[in-house]
Amino acid sequence: MTSAGANAGGRAFVTGIGGQDGGYLAERLLADGVEVHALAHAAEPLPDVPGVELHVGDLTDVPAVRELVCRLAPDEIYNLAALSSVARSWQEPDLVAAVNGTAAVALLETAWLARERTGKDVRFVQASSAEIFGQPERSPQDERTPLRPVNPYGAAKAYAHLAVGVYRARGLHASALVLYNHESPRRPRGFVTRKITSTVAAIAAGREQRLVLGNLDAVRDWGWAPDYVDAMVRAAHAEVADDYVVATGVGHTVRDFVAAAFGHVGIADWEPLVGVDPAFVRPVDPTDLTGDSSHAGERLGWRPSTGFEELVGRMVDADVALLRDRPRAQDSSRSSR
Ligand code: GDP
Repeated sequence: MTSAGANAGGRAFVTGIGGQDGGYLAERLLADGVEVHALAHAAEPLPDVPGVELHVGDLTDVPAVRELVCRLAPDEIYNLAALSSVARSWQEPDLVAAVNGTAAVALLETAWLARERTGKDVRFVQASSAEIFGQPERSPQDERTPLRPVNPYGAAKAYAHLAVGVYRARGLHASALVLYNHESPRRPRGFVTRKITSTVAAIAAGREQRLVLGNLDAVRDWGWAPDYVDAMVRAAHAEVADDYVVATGVGHTVRDFVAAAFGHVGIADWEPLVGVDPAFVRPVDPTDLTGDSSHAGERLGWRPSTGFEELVGRMVDADVALLRDRPRAQDSSRSSR
């Protein structure tokens, strides 16, 4: 728990604390002097974020979350809880709909009720996703791009995204941040970036022979995760709530990422080390997701701090360092995605 008087920056309630963004956001808010309360998912190990008050529960348990939020009376609510894997959303579409869609809408209603009961101007930030655009007709996408998801993950996120607009029209200070892919050394290995950097580090150390991937031509706009939580905080504090695309504006193929990662460890001739397995190719996959964040630039003063090469370099360096500290016997955690 934060020390007495440390909540000069207000009180925040964060869902999804166990994920990459939840950790970065909590650290950022604590540094700003905010008292941070977080919903820790009962089914997962408790996250280790010193200074955060954890409340064990499940976002889909609407009455319990509603009671908790009304009791805490937070100034800001950040909804980051979601099943984050697009690939997994094909296996469990109903669960993804419940967590990424319905539970987010219920939390909006909870924010509304908390505002009614406490008289406080509760601010709501929804972690929306570029997946709501699906197969867009043009790149880059912006806030006016039609929503056309192509997988269960995107459809559920689109429902929550639209509901943010509904509650904003009702009078809630609610913003949806359309986050493009954002990465860091804390990214789980199921995501292609971390799968690449951890495997390239292992190949460079002579511990693995090959990197096996799916679609190498998919284009993603990859940014530095701490920049994206900075956008969330800016949106919560902005005078007017709105929707914002948060992206670097520069797209790269998976192949580009692979080449940059191998390049960083000094391997130029990487093609013979990379294979393609159809098992990693998705049934439907957005092929070109690149975002135009000029609106966030103008209204929130937000700019990405980190370019592509720097991002890849930091992630590879972190994985090289991890391997250096880890004995060979622990070489096990292969990605199934
Ligand atoms: P997503 O954009 O949220 O689905 O993030 P991912 O990092 O999981 O996937 C980004 C892109 O990489 C998608 O277009 C995938 O189809 C592509 N990709 C290619 N090979 C792989 C792989 O082996 N694993 C994963 N996760 N994605 C891959």
